[in-house]
This record gives sequence, structure tokens and C-alpha cells, in this order.
Amino acid sequence: MAKKTTDKGTTSEKCISCGVMLIERGFNRFLCPECGEGVGRCTRCRQQSNPYTCAKCGFIGP
Ligand SMILES: [Zn+2]
Ligand SMILES: [Zn+2]
Repeated sequence: MAKKTTDKGTTSEKCISCGVMLIERGFNRFLCPECGEGVGRCTRCRQQSNPYTCAKCGFIGP
């Protein structure tokens, strides 16, 4: 059986601050207050209150 990468139904999200893949539990997901784009952040960035920049509208926020 060959493992095939099927992206069907899988949303591979990355932390918007540090770019780490959000595959573990505990990460934070919210919507950009400006454009409503989905934004994901890892636990570490959330705890450290790292700033993020929305990839869509460029909103910078904590
Ligand atoms: Zn992060
Ligand atoms: Zn935005």
C-alpha cells in the first residue's frame, strides 16, 4: 500500500507567526478582525503574544 497524500478535507494550517505546522492540539484559531480570514497560531506564539500579520489584508495584531 502506497501512502498517497490526499489533501481532501485536510486543512494544513501553519502558524501565522512562526510558520510551524499546526498539527498538534492546543493551537489557537481565530478570524482576522479586519477581513475575517482564518488565522492559526501555535501555542508558543500565543503564550509569548507574538505579533501576527494577516496574510490577506496585512493586519498586524497581538
Ligand atoms: Zn508559532
Ligand atoms: Zn486580515
